[in-house]
Amino acid sequence: MSEIRVAVAGAGGRMGRTLVQAVHETQGLCVGAATELAGSGLIGVDAGELAGIGQVGAPIRPDLDEVLADFDVLIDFTTPKATMHHLELCRDAGCRMVVGTTGLTPDQRETITEACIDIAMVVAPNMSIGVNLSLKLLELTAQIMGPEADIEIIEAHHRHKVDAPSGTALRMGEVIAEALGRDLAEVAVYGREGHTGPRDSQTIGFETIRAGDIVGEHSVWFVTEGERIEIAHKASNRMNFARGATRAALWISERERGLFDMQDVLGLRQRQ
Ligand code: NAP
Repeated sequence: MSEIRVAVAGAGGRMGRTLVQAVHETQGLCVGAATELAGSGLIGVDAGELAGIGQVGAPIRPDLDEVLADFDVLIDFTTPKATMHHLELCRDAGCRMVVGTTGLTPDQRETITEACIDIAMVVAPNMSIGVNLSLKLLELTAQIMGPEADIEIIEAHHRHKVDAPSGTALRMGEVIAEALGRDLAEVAVYGREGHTGPRDSQTIGFETIRAGDIVGEHSVWFVTEGERIEIAHKASNRMNFARGATRAALWISERERGLFDMQDVLGLRQRQ
């Protein structure tokens, strides 16, 4: 069977470099193309050299439209603006996508859903296998303890992260809210300050920490009278996200169209 050719968008970024290495190391995948923002000083540099693994034969290009014939699946961990541009190109060319970009607006998510009438995509704010297993545990905990519990989501990331709360924290909130039949938009409380009054038992709280080089930590507390459950996940390096993304690339290469997430990729959706 021939290898699936993967394009890595934002190949000069923190995740991009890790993704190039992960794709190169994954059996059945190869790096077919790599891109960076036009005007970047990295244009023309081999993506493998940049990732510290030696040449992989994919010089970094300034736009995806130049390399549409060179890949089967795009892995995109860039910015919402870049991802939406790539979506348009991939939809026209019939290429599959694995999107890890966070900070997508509801309108942008709607556009993605609509594009999946034509192409197959995996979109997940956190591709880590451990985090996705945690989502399943959160669903179960919310069903059993949630109605009586005060629920708080605490997340910490490195100082460069530009969106808050993290896409993962929001996804955790959505999973819990769904399990409890609540609407996250109505019950979410972001940070607290001043005279807040007593806690409304229906709310789901979010606390954000930004500091140093923390890769990504999430902890969800379910607190009732007399006991507390904490479901926590700590990422110690970026390779855990990249390995999830390569697993998603292999999985999506066998699908024609539709929008999926890591619960689908890991077969967790149908488990009760
Ligand atoms: P980063 O280091 O800033 O990387 C983003 C890269 O994309 C940069 O090199 C940037 O170039 C490049 N880029 C911007 N516009 C582009 C375009 N039009 N075409 C090609 N490349 C473009 O950030 P990061 O830490 O790697 O994170 C990237 C995204 O992934 C963020 O949204 C982050 O939250 C998300 N993320 C998701 C997961 C997950 O598991 N789903 C895990 C980690 C991170 P310039 O620097 O020149 O602007």
